[in-house]
Amino acid sequence: MTREMTSSFLLVTFAICTLIIAVGPSELLRIGAIDVDGHFTFKPSDLASVSSDFGMLKSPEEPLAVLHPSSAEDVARLIRTAYGSATAFPVSARGHGHSINGQASTGRNGVVVEMSHRNIGTLEPLVEPEEMYVDVWGGELWVDVLKKTLEHGLAPKSWTDYLYLSVGGTLSNAGISGQAFHHGPQISNVLELDVVTGRGEVMRCSEEENTRLFHGVLGGLGQFGIITRARISLEPAPQRVRWIRVLYSSFEVFTDDQEYLISMHGHSKFDYVEGFVIVDEGLVNNWRSSFFSPHNPVKISSVSSNGSVLYCLEITKNYHESESDTVDQEVEILMKKLNFIPTSVFTTDLQYVDFLDRVHKAELKLRSKNLWEVPHPWLNLFVPKSRISDFDKGVFKGILGNKTSGPILIYPMNKDKWDERSSAVTPDEEVFYLVALLRSALSDGEETQKLEYLKDQNRRILEFCEQAKINVKQYLPHHATQEEWVDHYGDRWDQFRSMKTEFDPRHILATGQKIFQNPSLALFPPSPSSSSASW
Ligand code: FAD
Repeated sequence: MTREMTSSFLLVTFAICTLIIAVGPSELLRIGAIDVDGHFTFKPSDLASVSSDFGMLKSPEEPLAVLHPSSAEDVARLIRTAYGSATAFPVSARGHGHSINGQASTGRNGVVVEMSHRNIGTLEPLVEPEEMYVDVWGGELWVDVLKKTLEHGLAPKSWTDYLYLSVGGTLSNAGISGQAFHHGPQISNVLELDVVTGRGEVMRCSEEENTRLFHGVLGGLGQFGIITRARISLEPAPQRVRWIRVLYSSFEVFTDDQEYLISMHGHSKFDYVEGFVIVDEGLVNNWRSSFFSPHNPVKISSVSSNGSVLYCLEITKNYHESESDTVDQEVEILMKKLNFIPTSVFTTDLQYVDFLDRVHKAELKLRSKNLWEVPHPWLNLFVPKSRISDFDKGVFKGILGNKTSGPILIYPMNKDKWDERSSAVTPDEEVFYLVALLRSALSDGEETQKLEYLKDQNRRILEFCEQAKINVKQYLPHHATQEEWVDHYGDRWDQFRSMKTEFDPRHILATGQKIFQNPSLALFPPSPSSSSASW
């Protein structure tokens, strides 16, 4: 290269860099300075579709643009631009938009990366049957991961109750269901990740490589990078499921049985342990399944509870068709140890895939009655085992006042199945419960189903826990101030903040979580004090 060529090359490079630094993100995008193989869209309908979420609790704020990436490199190019621009702009991955409080949004001056729209070029799930894993694109929905792995007679081990969630979205939280007591949450079943950090670097990470990033991203609420590929561990897929529900009128007997079930090891145990609180039987309260159908020989109303709260234990035994002769006996032996109301056994038997996809059927039912796209003021809490009985008295039998507006799940998990190095936060006890108040607000319902009433009830529940010193931790957390976030992370906050400085120094990523200050205020790089200021 001649001296003239070198200097004009440097001049052009300088001009491009100056352009990136000098103009705002919207101009940048419009002039096509970000060269991607996928595409950006500015169409009002596309902006509108990514600006609201399942929660429907906030007035939508439309982003500047939506990126439909076709590779990890597309995501990296966008982030490198956001990072290098004078006024760094937010970039949020959106899985399937099933957050409650705008966690996947960016506000008005950001770009949303629509991860779950498959574009030519994004990774198809790739199953390695010998190695028992599947490699998937970060925006893949779990339902599609299941379909692909079943073609090989394999399936992931740990699930969420609902499968129309993205891999990156659940791995940014934890991903829990009734298998978590045994297999741990979904984040405990990941072998490797590709992540685009807040500096725009594509990094491979695992237990062996970039370990800090690997554990930080799992449960990291999208703060340290966008997951573009995950390697998920698999097991041979069961063919059928015996699905059983039994009722309790005593909370203590119910939780004793749940805790006994999650302490069992080896093959001779149930494969899934959940439970829920029954306050009344309406559709909105029991939408998660049609289990208590008119075809079922036992009706809940026939089980005497004197109008008080009932608790339902939900358990399953997976089996292969070749074991259908022995499954009855096996279930009978396991159930003998339990102390439920003897006349309250509800049993059904179905294919494994139908069991895993059960909530989708409920979704279709609610959609047909216009009860799906309504506000969802959900509250998910991890409650330490030592205080679950106080929680029952104060909340289920107290604050809820025999009225709810959606299912209330309750099931225990073993902390030793959670990797302490991940970013997920759980109570400081060996066993803790998930309590999920999955409310739907109805504008034309009773007073107790109205949005403001339910939001106020959530506030009262949190206040009660604080006053009673029940050290709950929010799952899918939503906090209003940075003080609350510091409290949420406790003595792990410093580590969380230092990882933010390392992997996303300009606070570009997942700003909808509202943990760190706005990126346009973040200096280059941020001063230590700026990251503790509120946004
Ligand atoms: P989004 O809501 O789109 O994103 C959530 C957060 O993750 C955002 O901050 C986003 O920026 C970030 N993010 C998204 N993709 C990526 C990525 N690739 N890399 C990095 N960050 C990313 N959860 C359970 O654990 N168990 C359940 O049984 C369960 N059941 C549910 C049932 C229903 C009907 C609904 C609506 C939710 C349920 N959830 C459950 C909650 C669910 O795990 C969260 O909503 C989660 O956020 C996943 O949703 P999503 O894929 O739509 O992610």
